[in-house]
Amino acid sequence: DRPPRFHRKLICLSDGDGASSSPIRVMQWNILAQALGEGLDSFVQCPLEALSWSRRKYLILEEILTYRPHILCLQEVDHYYDTFQPVLAGLGYSSHFCPKPWSPCLDVEGNNGPDGCALFFDQSRFELLDSVNIRLSAIRIPTNQVAVVTTLRCRTTGRCLCVAVTHLKARSGWEWLRSAQGSDLLRHLQNLVQKHSSGPAGEPKTNIPLLICGDFNAVPSEEVYRRFSTSPLGLDSAYKKLSQDGLTEPEYTTWKIRPTGECCSTLDYIWYSQDTLRVDAVLDMPTEEEIGPNRLPSFSYPSDHLSLVCDFSFKEKD
Ligand code: NDP
Ligand code: CA
Repeated sequence: DRPPRFHRKLICLSDGDGASSSPIRVMQWNILAQALGEGLDSFVQCPLEALSWSRRKYLILEEILTYRPHILCLQEVDHYYDTFQPVLAGLGYSSHFCPKPWSPCLDVEGNNGPDGCALFFDQSRFELLDSVNIRLSAIRIPTNQVAVVTTLRCRTTGRCLCVAVTHLKARSGWEWLRSAQGSDLLRHLQNLVQKHSSGPAGEPKTNIPLLICGDFNAVPSEEVYRRFSTSPLGLDSAYKKLSQDGLTEPEYTTWKIRPTGECCSTLDYIWYSQDTLRVDAVLDMPTEEEIGPNRLPSFSYPSDHLSLVCDFSFKEKD
């Protein structure tokens, strides 16, 4: 007797012949750290039973297995070693995890260790070239936020891809810090692109395609969003493709009620290299009615953030 799952439709964007027969599916999701959800978040309309790990872990795994992404980027993972790494390894995923240096989970009694970012990839589709864990800096000072940056080779096409997952500093008043952290990540990615740019000698080089998935904790009007959308890396945000004009972010990627009030906003993004990748499909968002009056998390959905799922394919080289 559990409420139904959301029925989200995959919206196909490419017209017939342009669409790839074997796109790369990417999922971005802040899964809500178990210690934070039970200990610090104060989701006042969510019953405590809905927050129990014994319920939530199945709903999280069910969400992942419903869409079966080739690349899975998660934030607030505080059950990596005991749950996600072993379960997903059994399903053919290889992974990397970077804990936050001073995870707030550690302040919660009975915590399961620090939360952090995790990046999983389907080993049948990708071969690992390199992976680095990065502690993001702001004005050269190390911060409490991290990123995992993994370089992969697609076994289907032979093409390389660089994927990053991050979770920027939360809360209002920290816009400047998110902006600095975003700039630091862009700087790392710029260096990586320089290292991996390929092509025969004497011919123009093709830059390695980038995918950056994250809970940026920033609405689209923030400085860090502008830095990503205007960077020399040529990035665009995939979820804009859901909108009528193709230029507008969704109305929400997180929706919750705390004692301070309701928070319905867009904070999560999948950035991609416009020159080298094409968005073939985007998973639509559940409606306000489906989410329900008590918002998220709930008995139907285990996190206060919604998953973002997109299909990408490599553009033909010209
Ligand atoms: P952030 O401000 O980035 O937030 C941490 C988590 O809290 C996020 O996962 C965030 O979720 C969630 N959150 C956001 N808003 C709220 C809210 N209103 N109520 C409850 N939870 C919220 O944290 P930091 O990484 O900067 O870490 C701060 C903590 O780290 C401190 O509480 C401290 O315990 C610890 N710390 C300890 C240090 C030490 O020397 N011992 C040094 C530095 C930090 P979401 O992203 O989904 O919004
Ligand atoms: Ca959170």
